[in-house]
Amino acid sequence: MPNPVQPPAKRKPAAGPKQARAAVLAAAEARLEARCAERRQRLSPMRRAVFRQMFAQAQPQTAYQVLDGVRATLRKKVAPLSVYRALDFLAAEGWLHRLESLRAFRVCEHPGHRHAGVLFLCNDCGAAEEGEDQALETLLDRDAARRGFLAQRQVVEVLGLCRNCAK
Ligand SMILES: [Zn+2]
Ligand SMILES: [Zn+2]
Repeated sequence: MPNPVQPPAKRKPAAGPKQARAAVLAAAEARLEARCAERRQRLSPMRRAVFRQMFAQAQPQTAYQVLDGVRATLRKKVAPLSVYRALDFLAAEGWLHRLESLRAFRVCEHPGHRHAGVLFLCNDCGAAEEGEDQALETLLDRDAARRGFLAQRQVVEVLGLCRNCAK
């Protein structure tokens, strides 16, 4: 993904990383609420809890890890199936990417439009970075069309070492 030049960040006094993360989560949750309302989908407490759990972690999480996290925050018994269904819903709606090679989920960095997420997964530290490549998507669509293949989901996962671990 080309790295656009970022304008210098505006300084907000007394906003530490924790507050910044809370603000990101609140903004993401507001978008989720708006979209669910717009599409007349129910934002159940479980869907919300799973969404929060996913957004609290930058690293990919397996369904079991999400289940543990949701159990810990809700402090009550949670049926695994309800968590898996919420993960399926959020993945189908484009909020999460399902990482096939890790059997895990990760928050999508550009929700709200169809895209083939290109995920760069570090074998060493487990970091996951998401890129977005329109050219690659067009290429995959064209190849699928040529085969008469009806593509339903595209996942491109690149396994290797991240910038830090490759040093
Ligand atoms: Zn994405
Ligand atoms: Zn790494």
